[in-house]
Amino acid sequence: MTPTIAKIAYVILAVGWYVLRIPHERRARRTPVASSAKDWRDVLRLLISLTGLGIIPFIYVAIGWPKFADYPFRPLQAWLGVGVAVAALCMFWTTHRALGRNWSVSLELRQGHRLVREGPYRRVRHPMYVAFWLFGVAQALLLPNLIAGLSGILGFGTLYFLRVDAEESLMLQQFGDEYREYMKVTGRLLPKLHAKP
Ligand code: SAH
Repeated sequence: MTPTIAKIAYVILAVGWYVLRIPHERRARRTPVASSAKDWRDVLRLLISLTGLGIIPFIYVAIGWPKFADYPFRPLQAWLGVGVAVAALCMFWTTHRALGRNWSVSLELRQGHRLVREGPYRRVRHPMYVAFWLFGVAQALLLPNLIAGLSGILGFGTLYFLRVDAEESLMLQQFGDEYREYMKVTGRLLPKLHAKP
């Protein structure tokens, strides 16, 4: 394991992520939106997340900037990063499959939207966000640079904490008691220990 291989692993993670999403983005474009809570704030949150998970680390991988924030490379740390990256990609793929037509990049409800409660959604309400957190952790482990490494967790963290309440309000508005019931037996990112879904 070398710094270059770790950078390549980050690029594979980011490009793989993008490629996995292509068919879902195509399908989303064909599925009419029934109602939308998308506003300029959500667009801004998405831009912040993209900057942290994609733009800053890509600049670092391409030209090594910001050099002053580099710290010594540790092979074991990078290997851990590869493991977390694989887990992130698997989780991202599984959640997209489970959400199907109900997926949107922003806060939108599609025509015929239904509440998905199976697969990764059985015990956790935001497994796709779990995948994004794992992406951020993988980035931090793979890039030995305080800024380019941590920008993913910071960028996605901003999106997550500023969005999750609005998203759950939208779901409550649409699914009412069904979602309230679902909230009782699930956690946001981790399963509830004593709840049976
Ligand atoms: N927060 C979820 C989904 C992210 S995609 C996760 O992390 O897995 C965002 C879109 O998914 C929103 O438009 C929202 O309406 C929709 N959504 C969120 N949870 C859902 C669920 N359990 N079933 C169906 N759609 C859901």
